Amino acid sequence: MDGEEFRRWSHRAADWSADYLAGIGERPVRAPVEPGQVFRQIPDAPPEAGEPMEAIFADLDRVIMPGITHWQHPRFFAYFPANASPPSVLAEQVTAAIAAQCMLWQTSPAATELETRMLDWLRAMIGLPEGFSGVIQDSASSATLAALLTARERALGHTGNSDGLFGQKPLRVYASAQVHSSVDKAVRIAGFGDRNLVRIPTSGPLHGMDPAALRQAVEADIAAGLKPAAIVAALGGTSVGACDDIAAAASVARAHGIFLHVDAAWAGSAMICPEHRDLMRGADLADSFVFNPHKWLFTNFDCSAHFVRDPKALTDTLGIRPPFLRTLGQEGFVDYNEWSVPLGRRFRALKLWFVIRAYGVERLRGMIRDHIAWSRELAEAVAREPDFEVATGPVLSLFTFRYAPAGLSEEERDRLNARLLEAVNADGRIYLTQTSHAGRFVIRFQAGSTWTTREDVLSTLAVLRDLAPRVREAERR
Ligand code: PLP
Repeated sequence: MDGEEFRRWSHRAADWSADYLAGIGERPVRAPVEPGQVFRQIPDAPPEAGEPMEAIFADLDRVIMPGITHWQHPRFFAYFPANASPPSVLAEQVTAAIAAQCMLWQTSPAATELETRMLDWLRAMIGLPEGFSGVIQDSASSATLAALLTARERALGHTGNSDGLFGQKPLRVYASAQVHSSVDKAVRIAGFGDRNLVRIPTSGPLHGMDPAALRQAVEADIAAGLKPAAIVAALGGTSVGACDDIAAAASVARAHGIFLHVDAAWAGSAMICPEHRDLMRGADLADSFVFNPHKWLFTNFDCSAHFVRDPKALTDTLGIRPPFLRTLGQEGFVDYNEWSVPLGRRFRALKLWFVIRAYGVERLRGMIRDHIAWSRELAEAVAREPDFEVATGPVLSLFTFRYAPAGLSEEERDRLNARLLEAVNADGRIYLTQTSHAGRFVIRFQAGSTWTTREDVLSTLAVLRDLAPRVREAERR
């Protein structure tokens, strides 16, 4: 493809993207395909000769698009959002054209320095104090892994990397059962071992760790000759939005020299609204804090903002400097590969720069405030419905509910809710997912798409009113 052809097809891609987003609301939210349907339509061998771009674009519409679940759909209420926005998409186009590999300052001076500046902006936007340094990780999972590896090294006086873990006292990690499974995964990869992930019971409306139980667990472990290494606090857990008392966790961490990591992957974006910052009280005392602009800050996946209090502890843990990566005469700058697990890094800061500048922080706050207000309005409406109950009240824009007609056992209701969820998602107007809470099957709702309106959110009620009695009737037969 020569330069002129590239220009022509870039315009076509831009038109395609604009048309896609303009019509996205007309599509079923979740892909209505059978497993294997897309795979079977793709030849089992690659073409020997290049094909015309016209044919490739035609197959994009014919083969691929029917198998897409539309995360940017205005009625995507499943999981957590992975929202994008026009300024972010534009930045991604430019980023792809530049195609920089941003492992070292020298390989990407502008990307590195923009990243440092953007993380300073984000830190201030969410109200974390100066004294935290930031890096963009590919995912919150990677940030949590980097944090737990640093915690491990700190607990071992930075001997774990050199000597391994054999013969060490078991290192303990404390978290509630409400933390994301990326914590469990990091515990495994970092070599703590599943049995050293100590689950602290939760209580209260925010399903946070019981601080007294946390303190007792740590003290009991010390008395038993084990070594507390890390506490992971949830700020907006995935299941029902659990929020730990970070200040209380920090006080236990400080008292015993334990590393404190805060996972705010989803809820962190809402911290740009000062009225929600009571949820992060104490985060200024953490060692590490992660949130994902790629979830709820209108910035394309992937973009995970990871802040650390002591960057040297992180680079001492992850930094390896082989001769082929030396940047002769230009040593001593920030080389972000030393802050993360992969060596290669995409230029991710540009999309943050485009998004934050194009919207301005006040507009971003307004969009998040709308999502929260509309979700709360919907939760109140669901609670008023005769056969429905709200299972867990809204945390920011997330709540869970349950179809609970009278005269059914809880087990029958579990089954009915699973059927209702299947029916809702097959219907295609909205997309919801489930979780388990207090041993029961509950349906989750969250709103966070860039394109969502109040009407989209409230349309959930119409879908439930329409489908729930039909599902009940089908179950009776
Ligand atoms: N933490 C929380 C609370 C999450 O909800 C998620 C994903 O939904 C993650 C971590 C993992 O995020 P990532 O996909 O960026 O690894």
